[in-house]
Amino acid sequence: MSNVDNDINPPENNNSEALTTSFLEADVALVALDSANVGIWIMDAHSGEFRSSKRTKMLFGHEPDEELSFEQAMQSVAEKHQKIVLKAVLTAINNKTSLYIECPVFLPSDQKHRWLSITGGFGSADTVDSFFSGIVIDITKQKQNEMRRSKFIGMVSHELKTPLTALKAYVQLLSNWAKKQKDNFTIGALSKVERQVKKMLSMINGLLSLSGAEAGKIHLTKQSFSISELMDEVIEETMFLTSSHQIIRVPCEPITVNADRDKIEQVLVNLLSNAAKYSSKDLPIEIACTHINNFVEVAIKDQGMGIAADNLAQLFDPHYRVERVETEKIAGFGIGLYLCAEIVKRHNGKIWVESELGIGSIFKFTLPL
Ligand code: ADP
Repeated sequence: MSNVDNDINPPENNNSEALTTSFLEADVALVALDSANVGIWIMDAHSGEFRSSKRTKMLFGHEPDEELSFEQAMQSVAEKHQKIVLKAVLTAINNKTSLYIECPVFLPSDQKHRWLSITGGFGSADTVDSFFSGIVIDITKQKQNEMRRSKFIGMVSHELKTPLTALKAYVQLLSNWAKKQKDNFTIGALSKVERQVKKMLSMINGLLSLSGAEAGKIHLTKQSFSISELMDEVIEETMFLTSSHQIIRVPCEPITVNADRDKIEQVLVNLLSNAAKYSSKDLPIEIACTHINNFVEVAIKDQGMGIAADNLAQLFDPHYRVERVETEKIAGFGIGLYLCAEIVKRHNGKIWVESELGIGSIFKFTLPL
């Protein structure tokens, strides 16, 4: 087993010497990391000088004794991900924040992709404040399992959706027949069945979209439509499904957007049903849209339980749910906000939340016009 790299060039200047020393100091740690198939790397954020362990080079598909520059490492990343990885690295360096990114790396030797997770950060000591360093791990197996799980969820949801769609159609047919017969009992009962079927369909659609989003497959079918009209439709649908809250529609000028109508509907349904789910029945929900410069901003405001500041950063992550006594009994998969964020991002829009614990939340998103 190799321990420390011996392919590091002699230092050329003070910073380079410090960089080399810093890297060599990791000698003992390297042995342990090497055995765990973990690569390490270090970069001088000022000069861009880059050093990496043999394991890092191998993980990026290079020979352990080859030179590996930062540019070469980037070129090994699958083409579609190169810009994203570069942007993440530069953002972390410029903002002095930590880096975590997952990306596929193409291995020409066996014409396959390997998934890597790359983490990084700055040291705290003054002497190394320009050194950005981190580790690289092979997460191919984990990724393959995730993809299998995602595919399975997609398949199951698809199979569940077919009979449910037929059920919904028959319920609507029966409902029309009951209306003709003026049979109020059957009309009432069927309306309750329809509500439950619609709720189930919406959950299944969420799961289907999740597996699509995870596979990077959110396809947009854009058309021009009035966002205000869509908001009215969604309010009506939400009232039918929850029938508990007063939804106040703040009047706004007619605004036409060019977007995927079904997907924006999904975003509105998610945000409105969350506003209802996480606030008590007697408190109103407000929905508004505003034309600002060259985009439209939609805001959904509730006076519910709100979200603590330290939960905000992860809120749009898949499967994330705030764990508090108040939220324990509220059912959910933690995928709604992730899907909203993915859909809005695909439209080149932005989504965010302003929230105060115990006071309420305002979820906002924008769409370019
Ligand atoms: P779900 O509601 O199914 O758990 P979401 O992805 O829609 O999943 O939301 C993620 C988490 O964000 C929720 O579990 C909840 O804790 C929090 N959240 C979402 N919307 C609101 C809201 N309007 N008010 C308070 N908390 C919210």
